[in-house]
Amino acid sequence: MILKTLISQLLARPATNRFPAKYMPKSVTHFLTNVQAGKAKIVPPVPVPPKFRGKIAYNREKCIGCQLCIRVCPAQVIQFLPEVKKIRMHVARCTFCAQCVDACPVDALDVSPDFLIADTNRSSKALTVE
Ligand code: SF4
Ligand code: SF4
Repeated sequence: MILKTLISQLLARPATNRFPAKYMPKSVTHFLTNVQAGKAKIVPPVPVPPKFRGKIAYNREKCIGCQLCIRVCPAQVIQFLPEVKKIRMHVARCTFCAQCVDACPVDALDVSPDFLIADTNRSSKALTVE
């Protein structure tokens, strides 16, 4: 019985999507070389459904510095910048609950479909929204 399951799993197509090549570590160049040579194909990221809660998008121009988003954020993602009355978001802490989006009175915050944001540096540009 176990053997049958094992063999069927070995022959089954993977349930997960292969990670898109453009997000692979720079050291993985062999695959990209094969892509350029037409020997391998880049698999696009899986499409996300409507209203998917990805990385929060911030419209700095619209922001009035009211700090309501800071009050509702359960993960202390948002830092107020008093000198400019704007905010900075430390996305590495974000739980993608979108409470800040709902709270913002001027629609300066929104959810985006961007979910491929993993980084080894939590302070990287990709993980800092301002
Ligand atoms: S989505 Fe949730 S956790 Fe992320 S910044 Fe907004 S309120 Fe905070
Ligand atoms: S709730 Fe909206 S307007 Fe107020 S500080 Fe946050 S982003 Fe800016």
